[in-house]
Amino acid sequence: MGYTMKNWLERLSAKNWPSVERASVAASARLRAEQLSPIVRYTPALMLANVFNALALLAAFWGEPCFSRAVIWTAAVILTASYIYLGRRAHALLAPTRRRAGAMIRATTNAFALGACWGALPLFFFQGASPGVQVLIACLSAGMLCGGAFTMASLPAAAICFASPIAVASFIALARAGEKDYLLSAAVLVVYTSVLLKGVLTYAGQLKARVLAQIETEEKAGARMQKLQESSFSAMGGMVSSLAHEVNQPLSAATTYLNLTLRLLRVEAAARNVPPEETVQNALAQVSRASEIVARLRDFIMGAEPERRPVSLHAMIEEACAHYSAAAQKANVKLKLRLDAREDCVRADSVQIGQVLGNLLRNAIEAVEKQPQRIVTISTMTSEGDFVLTRVTDTGTGISEAVKDELFTPFTTTKHAGMGIGLSVSRSIISAHEGKMWAEPAPGEGASFNFTLPLAGKEDRA
Ligand code: ADP
Repeated sequence: MGYTMKNWLERLSAKNWPSVERASVAASARLRAEQLSPIVRYTPALMLANVFNALALLAAFWGEPCFSRAVIWTAAVILTASYIYLGRRAHALLAPTRRRAGAMIRATTNAFALGACWGALPLFFFQGASPGVQVLIACLSAGMLCGGAFTMASLPAAAICFASPIAVASFIALARAGEKDYLLSAAVLVVYTSVLLKGVLTYAGQLKARVLAQIETEEKAGARMQKLQESSFSAMGGMVSSLAHEVNQPLSAATTYLNLTLRLLRVEAAARNVPPEETVQNALAQVSRASEIVARLRDFIMGAEPERRPVSLHAMIEEACAHYSAAAQKANVKLKLRLDAREDCVRADSVQIGQVLGNLLRNAIEAVEKQPQRIVTISTMTSEGDFVLTRVTDTGTGISEAVKDELFTPFTTTKHAGMGIGLSVSRSIISAHEGKMWAEPAPGEGASFNFTLPLAGKEDRA
């Protein structure tokens, strides 16, 4: 069959009372520790009781014909008890990780060895003993049976291995005596043992349920905590990256203006085609734009509402186009405006909406750069429920299949040097303005990015 004693015991100690197979590795270790801890705790007292009881019996055997056999039996009990006690001490000195391995099997085999010693008592000494010694054997067998089973109740395999040899041997001894009273005692013994073992199994089942429920609660709390930490970490990472992304543009523009100023200062005043005051002013404007973005993003991260005021959407679009016209020209891209919305007064944070428009324009320009037809169209129209819809359509490559379902998730990018932040930040900004943002394929091959903003109330427009 290929079953060794060791793997039979392994199966017995891991049997479904309490089951450790279904639990995770960590949960199984915890379950084992909970099962073993009362046994380990009571081992010294239990071994002392074994030694004391064995010595008491040896004293009772004094003058009996079987005294010399009783000496051997007592020595066997004392040696086994000492071995178990010393084994526990050695085990306590091991590292906790090594301590667990085989501990359940060892507890079960120890219990069986001790149970076998006590089982030998009624089996070999009951018949032929004086009535007084017989009473003592019966009392001590019953005491050991109950005491051992209770102490090892947390590990039913050990409790059964300890109690069974004593119960079976006592039953055989009583039945062998043949008389009515002895037979009745044997029947009572069977009932007691059954009730005892049923109690052990019930207790072990309850212990298992309690420990597993506790582990589950702790695992859930741990998972919630981890999720919270991960989400706040990734949100923080996303915000930091978006900040870098947004601030980088005005800062590099400011650097360009300052370099230009340096070059202008090196030539004679008469030969300057632009006055340096103008380039310094442009650089200053870009730097203050950068600091405004930082301030706005900080408010956004802190959960502050955008600073919404009634502003003209069309004016913001025109400003964004002016800002990107140089880049569009350089890439030979035609920017078209179709600002058809009847009303364009929205309550919005102009800096944040400027960022959204900038992101969409930059993406659209990049998407058409290598296409034969390079047109980016920005259109507006009044939409249902007092909203105005803005659409940035391009004749570019279209949205890649690989990212189409995660376009608005931070760090989604198909670009070599992309950060994948622009669209996610843009959608957050639009949501904070009570609008919606989505993407769809444009007629032809390109892409169309849309967002809505609520129109300002009448009192705002007045
Ligand atoms: P990034 O531009 O740094 O990649 P975005 O969040 O702005 O970050 O864009 C995410 C991705 O969405 C882009 O990498 C690109 O694959 C896709 N995308 C954005 N705009 C367009 C567009 N106009 N046409 C096609 N794909 C686009």
